[in-house]
Amino acid sequence: MTRPVILTGVRANNDLHIGNYFGAILPIIDMARRRSAEYTVNLFIPDLHSFTTPINHDQLFDSIMNNARVYAAAGLPLDDDAIQLYRQSYVSAHSELTIILNNFVGFGEMERMTQFKDKSAKLSNDRVSVGLFDYPVLMASDILLYNAMYVPVGDDQTQHLEITRDIAERMNHKFGELFTVPEPVAKQHQFFGKDQGLRIKDLQNPTKKMSKSDETGKGVIFLSDTPDAARKKIMSAATDSLGRVHYDKEAQPGISNLLEILTLVRQANGRAVSLQQTIDEFTGLERYGKFKTIVADEMAEFLASFQARLAQVDDDTILRKLESSEITANQTANQTLLRVQKAVGLRC
Ligand code: ATP
Ligand code: MG
Repeated sequence: MTRPVILTGVRANNDLHIGNYFGAILPIIDMARRRSAEYTVNLFIPDLHSFTTPINHDQLFDSIMNNARVYAAAGLPLDDDAIQLYRQSYVSAHSELTIILNNFVGFGEMERMTQFKDKSAKLSNDRVSVGLFDYPVLMASDILLYNAMYVPVGDDQTQHLEITRDIAERMNHKFGELFTVPEPVAKQHQFFGKDQGLRIKDLQNPTKKMSKSDETGKGVIFLSDTPDAARKKIMSAATDSLGRVHYDKEAQPGISNLLEILTLVRQANGRAVSLQQTIDEFTGLERYGKFKTIVADEMAEFLASFQARLAQVDDDTILRKLESSEITANQTANQTLLRVQKAVGLRC
């Protein structure tokens, strides 16, 4: 019997930041370790998604490799054969299935995608690409090619999972059983548990989440920031004029964000503290500068030790893992693609 498939990926469009690390990479690795005895876990690097928004192409190849290195440095067991780590563009079926599926997806339904609206609103008109518009269909291909049942989705991706399900059901209805329909959003949340909700906020604008595509990067702590640069970003984080530490996401979003960040980096630095313990420790403190210094020191310690681990990662081991996973991924993806090609009349 084939095992059910869990699939997830983190876009390599820029350096990863601490939100990606604590909100995606660590939970993914934890999940992969726990589930790999019963499931196939497909971790892929969505490199074709990288330039749906403008990037520096000179850095892309490095970012892709770095993405894989970060997984290894964060503890992904590369010797587990039930965990596949592959690059999207090394499996050409992703592109081909997208071109086919495009013809079964309505312009109107795609126009409703809020991520497209949000992302395109941040770009001048001539920089909004057809690729950005088509992002959800490529994502549907990423999922459907591998018959994936479980895909962890944050709020920004729920609509994309829904459209994937719609496309799969539509194609199955028209052509017979072509695709495994992934589980609906509520079931995904049940399966993956609480970590999906974590959202680290931008340090300069703590009402919005930290994002890699942020133009300035001033409120974003990248995993590649020097400990000293990260320290400065924490020290200049936006707070409020209330002047007392209190965990209140509405009235004091900046301070609340720093309390959450402090808890996460303390945990990463090996101290078993809960958010509530951190809150209890600092509530009422009237000197934001002192509080920020504590967060900044803890962050500097985390980055220094993470970067030391990253430097130890062996590129040959990573490449061997990628290449062997890509052979397997091509086999599975090409089987699905052939089913679709036959169904639409391209093959007999
Ligand atoms: P972009 O600006 O290109 O959309 P991003 O920083 O939002 O980049 P994504 O590639 O969209 O990152 O998301 C990668 C993963 O990181 C997803 O699982 C997403 O939920 C998670 N993630 C992104 N930003 C944060 C954040 N600020 N806090 C926690 N998790 C996050
Ligand atoms: Mg995003």
